[in-house]
Amino acid sequence: MYKSFDYVLVGAGFFCSVIAERIANDMNKKVLIIEKRNHIGGNCYSEIDNKTRIEYHKYGTHIFHTSDKEVWGYLLKFTSFNSYYHQVLTVYNGQVYQMPINLETINSFYKINLKPYEVDAFLKKEIETESYDEPKNFEEQAINIIGRPLYDAFIKGYTKKQWGRDPKELPAHIIKRLPFRKNYSESYFFDTYQGIPTDGYTEIFNKLLASKNIMLKLDTDFHQIRDQFSSGTKIIYSGSIDSLLDYKYGALDYRTLSFEKEVVEYEDYQGTSVMNYANQDIPYTRIHEPKHLHPERDYPSDKTLIIKEFSAEANREDPYYPIGGEKNRLLYNKYLKEIKKTCPNFIVGGRLGDYKYYDMHHVIREALNVYSKDIRG
Ligand SMILES: Cc1cc2nc3c(=O)[nH]c(=O)nc-3n(C[C@H](O)[C@H](O)[C@H](O)COP(=O)(O)OP(=O)(O)OC[C@H]3O[C@@H](n4cnc5c(N)ncnc54)[C@H](O)[C@@H]3O)c2cc1C
Repeated sequence: MYKSFDYVLVGAGFFCSVIAERIANDMNKKVLIIEKRNHIGGNCYSEIDNKTRIEYHKYGTHIFHTSDKEVWGYLLKFTSFNSYYHQVLTVYNGQVYQMPINLETINSFYKINLKPYEVDAFLKKEIETESYDEPKNFEEQAINIIGRPLYDAFIKGYTKKQWGRDPKELPAHIIKRLPFRKNYSESYFFDTYQGIPTDGYTEIFNKLLASKNIMLKLDTDFHQIRDQFSSGTKIIYSGSIDSLLDYKYGALDYRTLSFEKEVVEYEDYQGTSVMNYANQDIPYTRIHEPKHLHPERDYPSDKTLIIKEFSAEANREDPYYPIGGEKNRLLYNKYLKEIKKTCPNFIVGGRLGDYKYYDMHHVIREALNVYSKDIRG
């Protein structure tokens, strides 16, 4: 059944969808995409909520941003973008502050009115009251950078919720720099291009995969049907690298997310698309309000959709954020080495295949590189 395909791709996220589009349209070859979920788009998938008709991102708010001209040009063949401009706010003790920490955050938090050139001296005084010559962990390192009060308010509780670990148990090196600004800049990204696809993310994937050379098989786990492919089949794989070898050396560590959707009867619930919650006793990390992602659309004025995001240790089924660290790096390298030796017909990539936190533009860049170097050759 599968012999008529030149390439088999595992996963219908950006990594495999971009490669499939290139093989089908540039090389005019046939590809089969196997996807275990019941939809295309991977974690970028968006859909319309039935009750409000508001489009939302099922796996968390996705903002497209890049300074890579080629990636941007490539995507413009499949979508236009609106003029959405991302900013993030955080609630601490019921009060809203700007994130990353900037001059507005510092001034509101301390109820002062510093000028940009006064910030260094002010923080220096704060840090002098508690600092560490040789910071041993994330907490000590963060205190060395912004001082105890800002750390306790904005970093400590959020980090505990996000990573499920006390910052004292996390290594110091993961925050060599904390993103904070001594001016009023509230832009979350500084890339040249930024926006939300005008017709949503899923429509991009519909277009990427529109060729008659592409066949899609949803609701199918590659590992269940793997033995139906001959050993020479060219396979491009964007699933998790440890599952490819049946976790024989153990599973890589990930955090996962879960979401609770709710319709509330306000035109506008929180005034922005993403609100972080810094206090540890609030169980969710963020509330998304997707209405704000499309200010150009005509959405209902009597209700809005809100989505609470919770973070937890991942099971093998739903990995989101790689936890990284030395132990996981060594494990990943072990899997990669063995796959290179025993599965020479596989190309492994994407966020799960590479075990890396990638933004969308990184994955599209990787897919275009893999296509031109390793596939078209
Ligand atoms: C909460 C969250 C927010 C994010 N926000 C942003 C953002 O604002 N901006 C940004 O640029 N990036 C963001 N990202 C990153 C973005 O989601 C990724 O860069 C992108 O989805 C990676 O694409 P991919 O193809 O590598 O992986 P995925 O999108 O995960 O696609 C992999 C696909 O493979 C399928 N699969 C896995 N194993 C198998 C198997 N055995 N058989 C069949 N199918 C399989 C999966 O079901 C999945 O659909 C965010 C990520 C998360 C988790």
